[in-house]
Amino acid sequence: MSDQITKFQLQSVFSEENIPKNIIGTPFADLIRYHNFATKFKDYEKAELAVVMCMDNRKQLKIPNKFAYILRTAGARVTGSEFKLSFAIGFADIKHVALIGHTNCGMVNLQSKKEKTVSGLIEHAGWTKEQAENHFTSYAPFFEIENEVEFTASEAKRLKEKYPKISFLPMIYKVEDYKLYLIE
Ligand SMILES: [Zn+2]
Repeated sequence: MSDQITKFQLQSVFSEENIPKNIIGTPFADLIRYHNFATKFKDYEKAELAVVMCMDNRKQLKIPNKFAYILRTAGARVTGSEFKLSFAIGFADIKHVALIGHTNCGMVNLQSKKEKTVSGLIEHAGWTKEQAENHFTSYAPFFEIENEVEFTASEAKRLKEKYPKISFLPMIYKVEDYKLYLIE
């Protein structure tokens, strides 16, 4: 990830004092406490939060059962999956959504992964070279991310315009230390 070229910085949250005042008392603060501080799990009867995160296998949130709806997509991109979020908001009364991008995301520099992906699809899925190449070429531009931090921040801004009364918190999961960071 190229931190240098982005206007955003990652803010670590390793103790209670690091939690920004504006999220204290919200499920966002509890998410940070559970995951980063290993706070003892409370019992939940209903979900308090929705989380959107990448499907990447290196990430596992440490949170209690029933605490959160979790939507996992490539690159934590919500476009194309809006209805899932709408369902959590409308039907399950979710008012807080954490958008969690991560370092070293596979959707960054996707074009460089074309050859391996295409040959893997031919070998594992039984596709023809033409099928695999056409598939990659038509979908890759839609999923490609330039920078994980900027993308997550912009996705939060875009969703806030679409769901104005919902709170969105963009965060980054560092696969290097498995912790959640805030974006500022
Ligand atoms: Zn990813």
